[in-house]
Amino acid sequence: MSIFQKAAIALARSPGAGRLMRATAAGSALASRFVGGATAGQAAATAARLRERHGIRASLFYLGEYVADPAIIEQTVEQTVAACRVLGAEGLDVHVSIDPTAIGYAHSDALGRDNARRIASAARQAAGGGRDWVVLDMEDDGIRARTCALHRELLEDGLPAGLTLQARRLRTLRDLEWVVRQRTSLRLVKGAFPVRALDHRGRARIDAAYLEAAAIMLSPQARAAGFLPVFGTHDDRLAGALMALARERGWAPDEFEFEMLYGVRVDWQLALRAMGYNLRVYLPFGADWWPYAIRRVGEHPRNAWLLARSLNSDGYAAGQG
Ligand SMILES: Cc1cc2nc3c(=O)[nH]c(=O)nc-3n(C[C@H](O)[C@H](O)[C@H](O)COP(=O)(O)OP(=O)(O)OC[C@H]3O[C@@H](n4cnc5c(N)ncnc54)[C@H](O)[C@@H]3O)c2cc1C
Repeated sequence: MSIFQKAAIALARSPGAGRLMRATAAGSALASRFVGGATAGQAAATAARLRERHGIRASLFYLGEYVADPAIIEQTVEQTVAACRVLGAEGLDVHVSIDPTAIGYAHSDALGRDNARRIASAARQAAGGGRDWVVLDMEDDGIRARTCALHRELLEDGLPAGLTLQARRLRTLRDLEWVVRQRTSLRLVKGAFPVRALDHRGRARIDAAYLEAAAIMLSPQARAAGFLPVFGTHDDRLAGALMALARERGWAPDEFEFEMLYGVRVDWQLALRAMGYNLRVYLPFGADWWPYAIRRVGEHPRNAWLLARSLNSDGYAAGQG
């Protein structure tokens, strides 16, 4: 971890710094760069703008993770349900992402399951025939099996559930076996959580594992099942290999998606759109944006410079970074 990342994590945890940033112009620039808005309505407006101007789709995510306080869990669920309704009313994809530990699993499994069902039912009700999915994010290994089981239960109940799997985990190939035979959306990411004994290590090995999993996602069985492959990566070299693999397997650019974080590598996002690929952005919203936004800066020091250049702009107009 770089010094920059350590500093960003310390800042993310500092309540004083958070209060100050939420009240200042620099703070609002940071928020508009990486966050869709404070409310579901504002985030849906950001999503509508991205769709209209750039043909970019969005997945809304209410900020918060590892929440054990029932009141905050309820707020997260209500905000996510509100996001489903407002996306449906705007005629956009009813597409939201949820962290199982933010919607109840950090309190009890039963609460997490009930809340996931509430959100997925609201999404199904609001859906208007777009690419409408409630995608479960994949967190640390302690919750992996429960997240996969939840995905299966929701699908069995006919709810529009998608899943995220991490290429660096050795068991992802096994998890994929069942998933690629379903009508679901699967987002493949490299994996953000600390390396464990049962993980691939090193960039080359993780990239190779990513492509091995992608080949299964682009298999004839997946296509026959109505499976939607989603590649969650900012890595342009990896994306080039994925495009070649998809072409080789006969998947048209419209039949799969790339997904990136809102505000990250905007130049590459716009280039993908110009090449005719589907792009979705993971679009966080909520009043508690400070820890999320400052972590994005810490991951990539160049973001601090982009931020200084783009005070009060979201970066999409200028195609920055
Ligand atoms: C839509 C989406 C959803 C995700 N969901 C999950 C999840 O549920 N569980 C999980 O474990 N992980 C998740 N992740 C994170 C993921 O696992 C990786 O940690 C993260 O995406 C970095 O890997 P990368 O594939 O972008 O490649 P990297 O090799 O890390 O990055 C490729 C290039 O992109 C650029 N880049 C990367 N990050 C940034 C940044 N912040 N700012 C500017 N440039 C940057 C750099 O130039 C870098 O060289 C998600 C990522 C995305 C995009």
